[in-house]
Amino acid sequence: MKFGGTSVASVERLQKVADRVIKKKEAGNQVIVVVSAMGKTTDSLVSMAGEISDRPSKREMDVLLSTGEQVTIALLSMVLIERGYDAISFTGWQAGIRTEAVHESARIASIDTSLIRPQLKKGSIVIVAGFQGVTEDGAITTLGRGGSDTSAVALAAAFGAQRCEIYTDVTGVFTTDPRYVDKARKLKEISYDEMLEMAYLGAGVLHPRAVEYAKNSHLELVVCSSFSDEEGTVIKEEVSMEKTKSVRGLAFEKNVTKVTLLGLPNNVTAVSRVFDAIAAKHINIDVIVQNVLDEARTSLSFTVDHDVLDETLDVLREQEKELEYHQMIFESELAKVSIVGSGMASNPGVAAQMFHALAGKGIKVKMISTSEIKVSTIIDESKLLLALDTLHETFHLAEEESVSL
Ligand code: ASP
Ligand code: MG
Repeated sequence: MKFGGTSVASVERLQKVADRVIKKKEAGNQVIVVVSAMGKTTDSLVSMAGEISDRPSKREMDVLLSTGEQVTIALLSMVLIERGYDAISFTGWQAGIRTEAVHESARIASIDTSLIRPQLKKGSIVIVAGFQGVTEDGAITTLGRGGSDTSAVALAAAFGAQRCEIYTDVTGVFTTDPRYVDKARKLKEISYDEMLEMAYLGAGVLHPRAVEYAKNSHLELVVCSSFSDEEGTVIKEEVSMEKTKSVRGLAFEKNVTKVTLLGLPNNVTAVSRVFDAIAAKHINIDVIVQNVLDEARTSLSFTVDHDVLDETLDVLREQEKELEYHQMIFESELAKVSIVGSGMASNPGVAAQMFHALAGKGIKVKMISTSEIKVSTIIDESKLLLALDTLHETFHLAEEESVSL
């Protein structure tokens, strides 16, 4: 069981968490609980460090941020002990969570279960600090913001758990963000691949790496509310989909800018030189479209987050000569809207249906990118809500799905 920051924000809430944990335990389970830092603790630690330096030491940053979770594990153990249960807390390193030697976004390399196993055997409830681990050299690392999900999944896999339940402040994974679309519906089930697309496309419910780990170890994941007893969303391998339904959900992102280079030379290295220059600045690019204009020239468009636009334009301007383009233009206030669903892979015409629906509402599609189970379009941000409503309707997302057994 993993509980996020909002769920453990106060001692009062920890009592509620304890209720759930005790219930699970009393039902005959061995239970490992992974917790986040309380409330906005991590944010305030980040801002304190920010008062000292613009670029605080990454090693010390990890030492600092890992303290948040350490507070929660001790308090939750105390609550459980006070209520008559055997409970014992473990920091990441005590729990044997080894990571690669990368600060602030380390990947888990292995988990040594030898200290926790005997505790589970003798019936203790084990409480582990999420979001942290230790390198071979003994340095504390963290797994990236939101990384407690990943700790939970990795521990569940290492212990061969039946399932991993992520308790959070929403009731599950929705067809799209309910704050934007009234008719958004909570999904009963979603596949790993679909969830990965949704997570990377900004659905925000789960740390994408957690989904990746769950997929690799075939672990059943459940996202549910720690504030209600409503059934959550199950994330697993195969999820059935009615023949008539090929889309599971909509993901979207705002704040998108499109940059276009006109008159690039039509040769084999031109495009790689542009992206090398951008990559050297660690700028993430997303959708890419290249058009051949004639034998000599092409045009190249790509999207970047608006926050890095200035930086992107600067690099390209500085290297105008080397990159040999004629003109650079950009367009801001765009959004990316994506349909996601594994049914798409075997159902032709889904993309056509999407474009048709958008065209019907006068929404111009400016760029397109696809994968086997996703179609993304770039549109004007002012049309985002209309696009979401339209696509939600077109693909019947408000209607109940059939559920596999
Ligand atoms: N406390 C960390 C964060 O706020 C990790 C987590 O909550 O998953 O990002
Ligand atoms: Mg989270």
